[in-house]
Amino acid sequence: MPENFAHNLKDLKLKATPKRLAILSLLAEELSYASPEEVWRKLRRNFASIGLPTVYRNLEDLANGGLITKVIHPNRQLYYYFCPNSHHHHHFICLSCRKVEDINFCGMEEIEKKVDGTVLSHIVQVNGLCRDCAESHGGTP
Ligand SMILES: [Zn+2]
Ligand SMILES: [Zn+2]
Ligand SMILES: [Zn+2]
Repeated sequence: MPENFAHNLKDLKLKATPKRLAILSLLAEELSYASPEEVWRKLRRNFASIGLPTVYRNLEDLANGGLITKVIHPNRQLYYYFCPNSHHHHHFICLSCRKVEDINFCGMEEIEKKVDGTVLSHIVQVNGLCRDCAESHGGTP
């Protein structure tokens, strides 16, 4: 696993620093999205002196390189998620338990037809409640 991450980082011309590798494997263990503060708290077990700004910067580098996904939550908190699925797809995120599901569908072809111009990139994130949460919350987060 870590060797793969080192490879991915090299492809992006990002140095495979121990911190970046630790962030990636930490996020890869989670089935849910995590906040920079949570990543930072876990990293401090191995990197006692790591600062929160360093974690923010590394997460941003990894997200810009497409290795992790940024989650924009309606509560305005920023989160990150690692998805092992490297094919183009989108995510359904549970606002309550933070579980993430892959949506193996992209409606961009249809949307491009409605756009008067050239689409260069897009961000699609579907927010809601997963089945378990919808049942236990009666439909409200
Ligand atoms: Zn849920
Ligand atoms: Zn995914
Ligand atoms: Zn898409």
